[in-house]
This record gives sequence, structure tokens and C-alpha cells, in this order.
Amino acid sequence: MNKTVLVSGGAGFIGSHVTVELSQKGYEVIIADNMSNCDETNYRGVCAILGRELPFIRMDFCDRKAVEELFSTHRIDAVIHFAAFKAVGESVEEPLKYYSNNLESFINVLGAARAHGSGVLFSSSATVYGEPDELPVTEKSPRQSATSPYGNTKQMCEDLLRDSVKAYKGLKGIALRYFNPIGAHPSALIGELPRGVPNNLVPFITQTAIGKRECLSIFGDDYPTPDGTCQRDYIDIVDLAKAHVAAVDRILEGRMKEDYEIFNVGTGRPVSVMELVKAFEKVNNLKLNYRIAPRRAGDVTAIWADPSLAEKELGWKAERSVEQTLAAAWAWEKHLAGKD
Ligand code: UDP
Repeated sequence: MNKTVLVSGGAGFIGSHVTVELSQKGYEVIIADNMSNCDETNYRGVCAILGRELPFIRMDFCDRKAVEELFSTHRIDAVIHFAAFKAVGESVEEPLKYYSNNLESFINVLGAARAHGSGVLFSSSATVYGEPDELPVTEKSPRQSATSPYGNTKQMCEDLLRDSVKAYKGLKGIALRYFNPIGAHPSALIGELPRGVPNNLVPFITQTAIGKRECLSIFGDDYPTPDGTCQRDYIDIVDLAKAHVAAVDRILEGRMKEDYEIFNVGTGRPVSVMELVKAFEKVNNLKLNYRIAPRRAGDVTAIWADPSLAEKELGWKAERSVEQTLAAAWAWEKHLAGKD
């Protein structure tokens, strides 16, 4: 019988791509989402890509009874936890909302996973490294104190997983630290759906290119980097999704070396904001309206991954080029606009 993976937040950007990759690898996937930050677009897209309806449960992971019931009524071999609030700025304005939602939901997942013997995969972030002293960052690079409640919940959830695995025999978990996930599925049927004005660079670029936004602001060109703009490690969303499949395989095939493991999920390749903008223009053969604006508060100068541990242990590495990824992001924006 196929193994079953519960994907909390499975209707979102990352969750929907992970659902597709897991299903294509032969896993049964249960999607659960409270739809607080998305509509059915990605769920419908997932079903269209796979050519079948996937089980979908509308629920809130802060509801402990509902979580317990779900784990009692389904055999869940592993759970991937994406369901969380993710807006950095809002987390500064509404810290209690972020702490209660992001921590409570994960505590409930951990409790149920412990009781039912499910493996746990947590979606962490390179934000835990803050402004690193040495580049690229390895999993052993020190975490820095978080600059927002959102970033703090990522660190706290890592600690919740680490401490639970240590205390509760049989519980196993992996934290994946994502760098900057971008792009969309090559089918252009699923992708990022930011509500309101996008905070992230690539959705802002594609919305500017399609005419929804007038002009992209490049936040700072006086950083100590080769071209003065910030450097990041942009990871293709399908590559990122495949890292989850490799991590679930590792948990369920009993190949973990420690009961709690951490892996960076990045390309190892720094790309500046200006390089990304130029690559987008070139691969999609268009001109983007942009201007240089002041630095954005809280941005780190440069961060990119040393992804060698994931390659060695998970047998995973990023395969898609920035150009392929930016072409997919543009195809998705055009799909949304009904212009394809
Ligand atoms: N950025 C930008 N203009 C925007 C949005 C982002 O210049 O409208 C820059 C931002 O300063 C950072 C990079 O793009 O250097 C990536 O930002 P994003 O918010 O996508 O991810 P972050 O690395 O902050 O998590």
C-alpha cells in the first residue's frame, strides 16, 4: 500500500507544488488547509495536473481536536507542515497573532505525530541565519536572533521539533531551510498568488511586467556587493518541492542518521536583484519598468546556501536555471491574466 503524507497548508504556493511531486512519486497525499490566505486556484491546478481529485480537508491546525481527529481517522505516515502566517511586516504589527497561530498549529501537529508515529517535515527558512558572517551558509552556521516575530516563529518551531524528537522516543523530524523559492510549475497551472501588493521580488516583477504595478522599486544599490544590490539564493519551486520528496523518502525508508536533521535547500548560487531583473528581461524578451529606491528595513546584504549536505544525504540538488524559473514565473502571471 502506498504511504500517505498529510500536507498542511497544501493549497498554498509551496504546498501545492510539493503535493504534485509527492503524488507523482506515488505517495497518497491528503491536503489540509484553512484557506485563510488563498483560494481554490492552486488546489484546482493540482488536480488538473494530476488528472484526479485529491482528498482535501478544510481545517485549522490550531484546532487541536480537529488535528487529533484527522490523525485518528487516517493513517498518516508523514506530515509536512506548511500551514502558517508568513508576512514579515504584519508579524511586527500583530506579534500575538503570529506566535499563537504558527506555534499552536505546530504543537498540535507534533502532538498528533507523536501519538500516531508519523514522521515530521518542517518548512523552515534561511531567515534563521540572519546576516551571516560567512558565506555560503552551512547548516552549522550559527542562527542569529530573529528580526521579526515571523522569523522568530521559524526558529521556535525548529526548537519545538528538536526538543520533541529528543524527548519522545520514536518521533523523527527534518527541518528544511529554504532560501528564496520562486517560479511556478511548468504547466503554469499552479504558482504564487500574493494577496494585495506583493512583498517578494519575483511576484512584484511579474505584476509590473503585466501592468498590474507601475514600477518595480529596487531596494538599495549601495550594498557592499559586486553591483550594489542585495544577493540571494533563488531556488526554483519545483526543485524545492523535490527536496521534500527526498526528505520524506529518507524519513519513511529509515535512512535518517539522527532523529532530527536540518538541510539547506538552495542552489549555492548568489544572484543580485539587478541580475535577476536583467535575466527576467532577457529570457522573456521584454523591458521592465524599474527604479532604484532606498534600502528596505530589515534586508540582509547577501545570503546564499552551501547545499552540499542535501546533495550528499538526500541525493537532491537544484537543477533548473534562473532563466527557466523566471520563464515559468512569467508564464504563470500570463496564465492568471488570461493572456496566454
Ligand atoms: N526586493 C526589491 N524590490 C521589491 C521586493 C524585493 O528590490 O519590490 C529585493 C529585496 O530588497 C531583497 C530581494 O529583493 O534584496 C529579495 O526580497 P524578497 O522579499 O523576495 O525575499 P527576502 O530575501 O527578503 O526573504
